Amino acid sequence: MRFLITGAAGFIGSALSNHLVQQGHTVRGLDDLSTGDPDTLSPNVSFIRGDINDRPKLWTLLQDIDCVYHLAARVVVPESVLYPREYNQVNVGGTVTLMEAMRDVGVRRVVFASSGAIYGNQNEQPVKETAIPNPRSPYAVSKLAAEYYTHTIGSLWGIETVCLRIFNAYGPHQQIPPTHPPVIPYFLRQAYQNATLVVHGDGSQTRDYVYIDDVVQALSMAANAPEINRQTINIGSGRETGVRELTRLVLEITGKKPEIVYNIRNDGGPGRMCANLNQAREKLNYAPHIPLEIGLQMTIDNDPRIRQTS
Ligand code: NAD
Repeated sequence: MRFLITGAAGFIGSALSNHLVQQGHTVRGLDDLSTGDPDTLSPNVSFIRGDINDRPKLWTLLQDIDCVYHLAARVVVPESVLYPREYNQVNVGGTVTLMEAMRDVGVRRVVFASSGAIYGNQNEQPVKETAIPNPRSPYAVSKLAAEYYTHTIGSLWGIETVCLRIFNAYGPHQQIPPTHPPVIPYFLRQAYQNATLVVHGDGSQTRDYVYIDDVVQALSMAANAPEINRQTINIGSGRETGVRELTRLVLEITGKKPEIVYNIRNDGGPGRMCANLNQAREKLNYAPHIPLEIGLQMTIDNDPRIRQTS
């Protein structure tokens, strides 16, 4: 098949691009490199630097494409609190631009990378797709709005659409920005540097950490699965892990004993988050394979930045 992947130089985009070319597919990748790194891409991926809101560029890139994976986005939740306009422009505006360009060119299917963040606080866990969204940040709102645009424009113009609500993905080559880094690469790197692990909130919050290979598995099945048009499907590990438990695992696996500080004045985000995977199993034949303990070890083994000591 011929794929266009937006956000191809990012954490999930590069893993997906490399997997698909390895399977013999043709992959074009678009990324503005605001955070992405094109060096993580296989030379068999045709990479083009560009903005998701550049419609003429999208017209060219979409020629002869069978399926689009739309991953390009700004992804840092606290940053979205400071710059909601920018998050709206890229995450919502970029999705609308892409859908319009897909309509113009005539592409069969788009798989949109949405987020478990759209749920916010939910009493019922593991959370089902039918739960009423309760977004807590401009980032989460932007992903929810983009889901609606994807499905609505798709149904108006005959484009097949599927939105995958990915929970906390982790694995090698995840971005580690200097402020607000994702918790797993941050904890692992801090542990190896014998530096303090700062936990936001009291550490009682739970998350569903899903290894990158499982996310790639789900994305790759979404390109061809039948009867998933207009569906919104959770992708996670189905296992609920407290942040305190995560710190314990990090210490055990790294064999380090860094100081752990609980910053209880900081908002630790929603209290509980865990994906109900019934829809993913039924519609995508999805089953997560990598337990957290193994995934943490694979992240350490395959990402040299983690063990770097400064
Ligand atoms: P990432 O930041 O590594 O990847 C996003 C990519 O988009 C980056 O390479 C960035 O350079 C690119 N990009 C940003 N603005 C762009 C623009 N205007 N034009 C073109 N490219 C642009 O993040 P990721 O973790 O790989 O996330 C990929 C997608 O999956 C995002 O849409 C994100 O919302 C979604 N998602 C990720 C997770 C997770 O845990 N990683 C969870 C839920 C959803």
